[in-house]
Formats: sequence, C-alpha cells, structure tokens
Amino acid sequence: MGAERQRTLKAPVQISGIGLHTGEECRIVMRPMSENSGIVFNRAGVGVGQSQLIGADPQNVVRACHGTTLANTDGVSIATVEHVMAALAICSIDNVVIDVSGPEIPILDGSAAPFLERIREAGVTTQTAMRELIVVESPIVVVEGDRSITIEPAEKFELSVEIDFEDCLIGRQSMSIGIDDVELMEQLARSRTFCRLYEVEALRAQNLIRGGSLENSIVVDGSKMLNDENLRDPNEFVLHKALDLIGDLYLLGAPIQGRIHANKPGHDLNTRAAIAISQGQSAGISANEQVAALG
Ligand SMILES: [Zn+2]
Repeated sequence: MGAERQRTLKAPVQISGIGLHTGEECRIVMRPMSENSGIVFNRAGVGVGQSQLIGADPQNVVRACHGTTLANTDGVSIATVEHVMAALAICSIDNVVIDVSGPEIPILDGSAAPFLERIREAGVTTQTAMRELIVVESPIVVVEGDRSITIEPAEKFELSVEIDFEDCLIGRQSMSIGIDDVELMEQLARSRTFCRLYEVEALRAQNLIRGGSLENSIVVDGSKMLNDENLRDPNEFVLHKALDLIGDLYLLGAPIQGRIHANKPGHDLNTRAAIAISQGQSAGISANEQVAALG
C-alpha cells in the first residue's frame, strides 16, 4: 500500500431523515475540515456549558447494541454513527465535521449508499498531509462466546466475515473482500440493516426502534422476509455485517493494514476490536521505539 494523502470533502453535504431508534427527524451537514482534524460530530441544541463536539474515537463508544453510540465527557451523545462512518471509510475521507441537529444519524434506507452518493456528488479533495496507516504488527483477538474478531499482520487490508443464523432465511453466509475489490465494496455499501421479527417486537416494546420500518430494515420472519423489495444481494446479510464492521473500525480514524476475520460480529465486538487495535498499535510503536533505542 503506497503512501497516500489525507482527503476531505470539496463542498458541504446535507442529508435529512429519521433516526432508527428515536424516530426523530434529524438533519446532518458534513463540512470540509483542515488536515489532521479527523472526524468530529457537532451536536446542536446541547445544554449550556456542555461541549457539543464528539470525536469519532472507539474510546467514545458508550453503547454498541443495535447500533453504535458515541458520547463526549459531558455525556452529549450521537447514535447510529456506523453507516456514515462506513461511507467515509469507503471514500477515504480523513477530515470532516458532521453537524447534527438531533441525537441520531438518519437511518435513510438502512445502508451506506445514500451517504456515499451525496459524498460523491459533493466531491472529495486531496490535502497536503499524509494519511496515517494503522499497521497491525502482531495478532489481536477479541472473543465473546462463539463470536470473535481476529486481526493479523498482512501486506494490505483484507476482511472476511462469517455469520450463522441457522434458524431462518439468513442461514450461514460468508464473504471476503480485499482493498481493490471496488465492485464488492459497492455491493457492501448498498446492503441494508436487518433484524428478525421477534427482535422487532422486543425492541419496539423497549421503545428502541421508534423510527424502524420496512423502508429502512430488512425484517426476517423464519424462512421469509416481510419487505416487498427483494434482497439487493444473495449475501446481503453478511455484507451488512461487514459494512458495520468497516464503519466501527473507522472510528480509529485511519485505514488498517492487516487481515481481519470476523465470526458473528456485532457492534459490541467491533468496537472492542477497534480499542484493541488502538492499544496494540501503541504497544507496537513503543516496541519499535525500544528496538530503535537499542540499535
Ligand atoms: Zn448497520
């Protein structure tokens, strides 16, 4: 992977829609930022004296159940950041501020495709500073029961994901993608959020999906789906898990050089993997510094 320069938007991007969890209308405006600014959410309407800035950082994840929620030290939060983060990862955008009018990023059609379209319409511009690259130097594993994410050293970015929902239409699916697989990356961006009908009922009872509908989620009931729109890809379910993982890992703020394998991933495991990478990375750097000092 050659050295690359940082990128930002050419022009602001505006998107509105309802939030999956809150059902509230929310408008976001993504604006270009200078180099080395990173990705920052800027929430309007917070309390007096509270900071309205929330950095995209795995250390800021406060909730990772059915979506990823970030908060700053004043407790100001922004929910459902994963699909816009995935779109920024796919477009290799390093620096952007995202003004948000409400507590949640709009769910739109449940995929990252609408964010990608608008970013591409606005255009992307190259900056002077070089991009950071997170080079995985030794294997990292995070495990939760029979679920796991493994990250190993490799020449470039590779990702493979497996899921297993034996009981229903979803079944077992697997996918793998390399850094240059542009066509598959487009399919991955178009894949939608999904859930099973019994989960919908439980989430609705807990008021967690006030904005949920067949317009923004695939709902699976046993061997069939409730949506009229067909699957966008026979592997749409595993592609969406890969999309979520790409979005959650981009909280690190830089692309990863390493081989990632995820078995039954979810936002909880994804964000734990991001934290482990950031810690492994700093350990790796200090080890190198020691070698340099010894040399
Ligand atoms: Zn998702």
